[in-house]
Amino acid sequence: MQHQHILVAGGGPVGFLTALGLAQRGIRVTLVEAEPGIVNSPRAMVYHWSVLEGLDKLGLLDDAKQRGFTKQDYCHTVFRTGERIYWSLDPLTDETDYPFNLHLGQNDLAEIARQHLARLPNAEVRFGTRISGVTQDADGVTATLESADGTEELRADWLIGCDGAGSAVREKILKLNFFGITWPERFIATNLRFDLEAHGYARANFMMDDVYGAIIAKIDQTDLWRVTFMEDVNLPLESVRERIHHFYDAYVPGIEDYELVQFSPYRMHQRCVDTMRVGRVVLAGDAAHITNPTGGLGLTSGLFDSFFLVEVMNAIVNDGASTDLLDRYSDERRRAFIELASPQATRNKQRIFHAHEGTWFDRELAEIRKLATDRDAVLGQVRFTRALQSSL
Ligand SMILES: Cc1cc2nc3c(=O)[nH]c(=O)nc-3n(C[C@H](O)[C@H](O)[C@H](O)COP(=O)(O)OP(=O)(O)OC[C@H]3O[C@@H](n4cnc5c(N)ncnc54)[C@H](O)[C@@H]3O)c2cc1C
Repeated sequence: MQHQHILVAGGGPVGFLTALGLAQRGIRVTLVEAEPGIVNSPRAMVYHWSVLEGLDKLGLLDDAKQRGFTKQDYCHTVFRTGERIYWSLDPLTDETDYPFNLHLGQNDLAEIARQHLARLPNAEVRFGTRISGVTQDADGVTATLESADGTEELRADWLIGCDGAGSAVREKILKLNFFGITWPERFIATNLRFDLEAHGYARANFMMDDVYGAIIAKIDQTDLWRVTFMEDVNLPLESVRERIHHFYDAYVPGIEDYELVQFSPYRMHQRCVDTMRVGRVVLAGDAAHITNPTGGLGLTSGLFDSFFLVEVMNAIVNDGASTDLLDRYSDERRRAFIELASPQATRNKQRIFHAHEGTWFDRELAEIRKLATDRDAVLGQVRFTRALQSSL
C-alpha cells in the first residue's frame, strides 16, 4: 500500500499544503501547477487562530510567523459616524496555545510549504504544467498534462484537484455542478505601503458602510497593507486604478505619499460543488467551494479540507482504511461550507458592505459593540471558525 502515488493539481496554498502533508506521511506526491511560479495576486492574508495548530503540525508556523506576524487586535468602524470599536482576541488565551491570528500573503504561505516540500525525496513539483484531462479505472487515474515540452500522460493512484475557483478538474474533467450565486458587485483588492496604524487603525479593520465599506488589514512587518473595497460591477474595469485614490481618501482624509503596490478586481460568489469525490478523483479548496472573502473564510475552509484530506488519505494509503472514508470527507466538508462558512460569509458581507441605518444593522451593531467589553461575546464570535474543522 505504501507505494501509492498521488497527483495534486494546482500549486496554490491548498495544493502545496496538501502535497506537503501527504509527502510527510511517506506518500509519493507529484504536484503540477499551470503557471511558471506561485501566483501572487492579492488574496488571502488572514489566518484565523483555529488553523494555526494545523500549520504548526506541518512544521510551517515558525517560518510563517517570521515572514508575516501574529496579532490579536481588531477594529470595527462605523464609517458615517466615525465610531470605532476596538476589540481583541485576548480572551482566547485561556483556551488555546494559539490565541492570535496570523497575517501573511497566501503566496508566501504556499512558498514556505514549497520550500519544505523540496526537502522531501518522495515529492516532485512541476511548474508550467497544466492538467487537461483524466480517465480513471478501478486501480488509478491517468492524467493528461500539458507543458512547454508537449503533452504527456501520467499514471497515479489518486488525483486531488486543488486547481482553484475555475478548476478544470471540477468543470471540464468531472463536469460537476457548481451550485450557488454570483454577487452583483465587484471587489477591488489593493495592496499599499503606508503607515495606517499612525491614523488610528488596528492591524485588522472592518469599515462598515454601504458605499465605503472596506476590509483594511496589515499584511507584513514592512507597512504593506491590504485595502479591499466594493464597487458597482458596471463601472469600467479599465479605470479601476483611477477610483482607488478616492476610496483611500475616504479612509484617511488628505492621504498622500503612499505607494500603490498592487491591485486586482474580483467577482464574488457563494458556490459549492455537488460532491468532492468522484471515484479516485477528489477536490479541495476553491476547486470545491468559493465564498466572498469578508471575514476570511475561503482559504480557512480550504485549509481545513486539506488537513482532513491528508488524515483520510493517510488512513487509506498507509493504514488500509476503506476508500468510503472519502465519501465522509466529501459530506463533512460540504456541510461545513454550506451550513456554516457560506452563510456566515454572507452575513459578514452584509455587515461590512451593506451597512446602512435600520433595524437589522442596529441589532448587528449592538452585538459588535459587546466585543469591546464582553469576553464571552468575543469567545462566542471567534470560536465559530473552529466549528469549520473536521477530523477522523
Ligand atoms: C480579495 C480576496 C481576499 C481574500 N482573503 C482571504 C482571507 O483573508 N482569508 C481566507 O481564508 N481566504 C481569503 N480569500 C480566499 C482565498 O484567496 C482562496 O480561498 C484561496 O486562494 C484558495 O486557495 P486554493 O489553493 O484552493 O486555490 P488557488 O489559490 O486559486 O490556487 C489554485 C492554483 O491552481 C492552478 N491551476 C488552475 N488550473 C490549473 C490546471 N488546469 N492545472 C494545474 N494548475 C492549475 C492556479 O494557477 C493556482 O495556482 C480571499 C480571496 C480574495 C479574492
